[in-house]
Amino acid sequence: MTMPDFCEYCHTPLGTTEKRVTVYRRRHGQHIIFEHVPARVCSRCGERYFAAAVVREMERLMQAPPLTAPRLSVPVLEFA
Ligand SMILES: [Zn+2]
Repeated sequence: MTMPDFCEYCHTPLGTTEKRVTVYRRRHGQHIIFEHVPARVCSRCGERYFAAAVVREMERLMQAPPLTAPRLSVPVLEFA
């Protein structure tokens, strides 16, 4: 996977500046939040693009999340 030069959704040039973003993933019913993940963010639509190495590292971390990682309790709301 290579980083596109233009946003795949709105065709805005992505530039080379990386931001640190929060990423939510779900794996085998477990919810995982990554913080401070480097990404290029489309300035127009907000779509986020991750380098292949970053995606691999998130996959690796999800295999065995450290037991010492902070845990969150979140409300689950029914849309009425
Ligand atoms: Zn875009």
